[in-house]
Amino acid sequence: MTHELPELGYEYDALEPFIDAKTMEIHHSKHHAGYVAKLNAALENAPEEFKSISISELIKKISKLPESVQTAIRNNGGGHFNHSIFWDLLKKDVPFEGELAKAIKAKWGDFDKFKEEFSNVASTRFGSGWAWLVLNMDGHLAIMSTANQDNPLSEGKKPILGLDVWEHAYYLKYQNKRPEYIDAFFNVINWKQADHNFKTAKSE
Ligand code: MN
Repeated sequence: MTHELPELGYEYDALEPFIDAKTMEIHHSKHHAGYVAKLNAALENAPEEFKSISISELIKKISKLPESVQTAIRNNGGGHFNHSIFWDLLKKDVPFEGELAKAIKAKWGDFDKFKEEFSNVASTRFGSGWAWLVLNMDGHLAIMSTANQDNPLSEGKKPILGLDVWEHAYYLKYQNKRPEYIDAFFNVINWKQADHNFKTAKSE
């Protein structure tokens, strides 16, 4: 199977002024498209059993790939998977409500405490990577980060909310000020999608 770049589902300028149109255009049509192309190229040299499975199944089986293609698929398959989740989690003016909102308040006490811990993890991830809200194997919510294009799924954890903290995600507008980008992200979280991810993760 050939993996494909998903449609964004909204215009590049839909998240202005928090995430600018130029960044979204380059991020989606160049960076994400590049991961997809390189993933497909790497899969040509992978064993047959890895060629016909979905991207999420592939992410779960990274460690089972032969060494010759493992790094390329970890980086580019992870890049494809992470960005596909990320785009759907971005939308302006979605209220913080629902089952996930309740679970976050139950775990962190209030939204501000959750935002503080998530922001701290996102801003202290050294170099390139992602910050995540995940459902752990024990069924509890947790905040974590991964390096590069690694994903919690490879560790058996289910991603609910993710934030790309690679410089390519914010440098045009925010330059070296990653904390300002993280703060802006909280204005464009699609809590409805995150709630959907939470419910799906719990039912699996
Ligand atoms: Mn990215």
